[in-house]
Amino acid sequence: MSYKRIFDTHAWKLTTNTLHKEDLRLQESMTSIGNGYMGMRGNFEETYSGDHHQGTYISGVWYPDKTKVGWWKNGYPEYFGKVINAMNFIGIRVLINGHEIDTYQDSVTDFYQELDMKEGILRRSFTVNEQVRIETERFLSASFLELCLIKYNVTNLTDENIKVTLIPYLDGNTKNEDANYEETFWVEADRKIGEPYISLSAMTKENAFDIERFTINATMGIVTEHALSMTTEEAGLYAAAHYEYEIPSGASAEIQKFVVVTTSRDMEKEELIPTAERLMADAMNKGYNLLQEEHIEEWARRWEKADITIEGDVEAQQGIRFNIFQLFSTYYGHDERLNIGPKGFTGEKYGGATYWDTEAYAVPMYLALADKRVTENLLRYRFNQLEGAKHNARQQGLKGALYPMVTFTGVECHNEWEITFEEIHRNGAIAYAIYNYTNYTGDKTYLQHEGIEVLTEISRFWADRVHFSKRHNKYMIHGVTGPNEYENNVNNNWYTNTMATWVLKYTMECLADIDEQRKEQLNISAEELAHWQDIVDRMYFPYDEELGVHVQHDTFLDKDLRPVSSLDKADLPLNQKWSWDKILRSPFIKQADVLQGIYFFSDEFTMEEKKRNFDFYEPMTVHESSLSPSIHAVLAAELKMEEKAVEMYKRTARLDLDNYNNDTEDGLHITSMTGSWLAIVQGFAGMRTHGETLRFSPFLPKDWSSYSFHINYRERLINVNVDQNEVKITLVSGAPLTMELYDKEVLITDEEPLITKTTS
Ligand code: BGC
Repeated sequence: MSYKRIFDTHAWKLTTNTLHKEDLRLQESMTSIGNGYMGMRGNFEETYSGDHHQGTYISGVWYPDKTKVGWWKNGYPEYFGKVINAMNFIGIRVLINGHEIDTYQDSVTDFYQELDMKEGILRRSFTVNEQVRIETERFLSASFLELCLIKYNVTNLTDENIKVTLIPYLDGNTKNEDANYEETFWVEADRKIGEPYISLSAMTKENAFDIERFTINATMGIVTEHALSMTTEEAGLYAAAHYEYEIPSGASAEIQKFVVVTTSRDMEKEELIPTAERLMADAMNKGYNLLQEEHIEEWARRWEKADITIEGDVEAQQGIRFNIFQLFSTYYGHDERLNIGPKGFTGEKYGGATYWDTEAYAVPMYLALADKRVTENLLRYRFNQLEGAKHNARQQGLKGALYPMVTFTGVECHNEWEITFEEIHRNGAIAYAIYNYTNYTGDKTYLQHEGIEVLTEISRFWADRVHFSKRHNKYMIHGVTGPNEYENNVNNNWYTNTMATWVLKYTMECLADIDEQRKEQLNISAEELAHWQDIVDRMYFPYDEELGVHVQHDTFLDKDLRPVSSLDKADLPLNQKWSWDKILRSPFIKQADVLQGIYFFSDEFTMEEKKRNFDFYEPMTVHESSLSPSIHAVLAAELKMEEKAVEMYKRTARLDLDNYNNDTEDGLHITSMTGSWLAIVQGFAGMRTHGETLRFSPFLPKDWSSYSFHINYRERLINVNVDQNEVKITLVSGAPLTMELYDKEVLITDEEPLITKTTS
């Protein structure tokens, strides 16, 4: 596995003393910050003319980029939706005695950069041309979401007076790297160069698809002292202020740049600047220091519930914190119209849209680490998009709802036939998240009101998508792509058939619990239910008696089956080295497929079954989706394959920190970052929540001396601490709970922690 580490290991920080000019894109990805409302790569404020990727993204602000394919197929979505690179509002040009500093061209020494994950602050300091020392600090407020704050300080290191010009600016002349053809997506909307603030608004350009045009506005306010003059500059999608200073030896020029971002998602276009000005006045009244304190306090509140401490392995410690930090920076549930893109605010790949990743991978972590409202918002997002999902099913000539693989509105906007039309297993994950939420929280309100409608429509899709094979007297699902995207158009993908059947069964169970009036609204007939039941009773599942494994799909066993270890190392990763045709015909598996199903329905399989399937599939798995290792870590831990579990944990926890997939320069793997949490909590600690009982079965990885985490569970906060000798479970708040530890029933109360010997 390739490996590149550019930041030092540290329990709470990413630090480096190197300006990695050769790897600046990587450095920028790693130092991304966000607050759910907006986010950006770790770009520098001052000019940097070398290769890098300037990227700022505002959540929910996107553009439908026309689908351009060589050969159009009926049912293709007309556009690919993408979060667009927004205005650069962090920029500050710096001139020393008239020379503009360029940190690529000029001499930069004593460089230091840190991302403080505890406080959510990005800092940098460095010396330029042995003339000035620059110190910067930036954060996107976690408590005042429209606000970005930057402190930028320039100290004169020479013996003489120097002239410093600081030019804080707003620049809307941005392009997406991930655009179809070098197009830009913005047109100017408004500009106000006033005292005391400067505002610049940009609007997404027209589109042919009747998709809302978004307007964003950035208003900048500057706090500074001792400037000799201030002038302004404006041109097109650009506005700036010029501050001139005369700085004696040893003294500094400093500006605090306050930026408030407002968007037409939240208000009428005409309100954008007045609202931003009001918010700006509030922010300036509070001042930088107080705003920073409030931001740090908000992060402290988040960490109090969410932190995982690992003693004895600082790399693992840094890994899990980095992942939780980046996830919470991407999404913290404040807006039910938003979701979690695979790259969050850190890059453009995957278009910033919503994938099944959210339901399959992110939901369990948010359930345990944040208020249940956060997950409820994720579920409501899908409920609100039900009409879009029905549209997708209609596009395929089918009934019910097909949730999309990629979306902003519920309407599918991915345009590869093997994904759009075939990777329909995603529909099951949407239903599974409703089950997960209801089961975990014990609260049926969402299920009974909104969830049941989503389940019913998804069930209607499956009932229409299956067909009946008279020859086998079974229902089947042909022409699909399973989670393993290294095979397309397969018949009876075991995972898809399992999900479809489970959804029908679960929906029927839930319907039995729903009041008559709601059932009537859903318009479900007895015949429809009977048909669903028939599918459940007669679904076909490929199984091999001799091997004792669930077969990935009908013809999987006819492939030239061989392990990944038989490959030449130079062939990996396959997706970069092999032709697509060769990949499709190979037995190599991109990510958990059968094992994904076994993971979801863990209680339905015996340990022997799990082991047989794991031993059969894992050796053929290349884990070339970043979503893969975590599921394998959880299963390996349960199977007591500790070494494998730890290997898979490392791969998921430090995927970006060590750039294992050699692609982190494009952005972080945000949705798979929950994987390291899953690996520790569901894997090493063996947490299971199926049914009404919370269960743990912890072991301690041999290189660690202990680990500890909290979970929210049904109005309780529970701490689990595992060391070499004992497992200690503390009920921090909430009512006593009967649960299981190592398969034994135990009661936890707030009187004293429950302590048991650690079993390996
Ligand atoms: C994976 C999908 C995933 C997508 C976005 C792909 O590489 O195969 O399962 O939804 O990435 O993370």
